[in-house]
Amino acid sequence: MHTLPALSYGYDALEPYIDAETMRLHHTKHHQTYVDKLNTALADYPDWQNKSIEDLLQNFSSVPEAIKKVVKNHGGGHANHTLWWQIIGPATGGQNLPGGELLIKLEASFGSFEEFKQKWLDTALTVFGSGWIWLVVEGDSLVITTSANQDSLLMEGKKPILGLDVWEHAYYLKYQNRRADYVNNFFAVINWSEVAKKMTEK
Ligand code: MN
Repeated sequence: MHTLPALSYGYDALEPYIDAETMRLHHTKHHQTYVDKLNTALADYPDWQNKSIEDLLQNFSSVPEAIKKVVKNHGGGHANHTLWWQIIGPATGGQNLPGGELLIKLEASFGSFEEFKQKWLDTALTVFGSGWIWLVVEGDSLVITTSANQDSLLMEGKKPILGLDVWEHAYYLKYQNRRADYVNNFFAVINWSEVAKKMTEK
């Protein structure tokens, strides 16, 4: 059984950058639905029921044909949102910047932190419709990539360490169509220490 992960902060903790109502709906309705539909589909497949979401997605080619679509859409949604709640957190005030090895890798990969941020903003505005922006570890480098719908990069054997949900449900209540403002404000609530931790994890 997959379960909705608890958040380590309150729904209002990311105000004013991400509003409490969006957080509550996103967690209790959208993410919960991905978990529920995944569990329903897996109910008839005992061999697959107890695998972690990472195992399911990393071994996607072996998943039974009849449940592939649900695992891709709802399993992907579960994995993507589980990462999302981890890599955002309460704004600490002042500049929210990465440090240490993560900053060194960002600078080596993009030229500077500002160039990384600009490329992230530009990329977020090119995603048509619903999808995600990702920062992925590739060898010694960090690269920005995108995925459509709830496709998980784990299905491609990639290692995402930062993600940005650009589905309208992630921002529409507060930002309406102003995706650029949402993406800019995302930088105030990134939990960089969690991103750094994911970078060093196997
Ligand atoms: Mn979402």
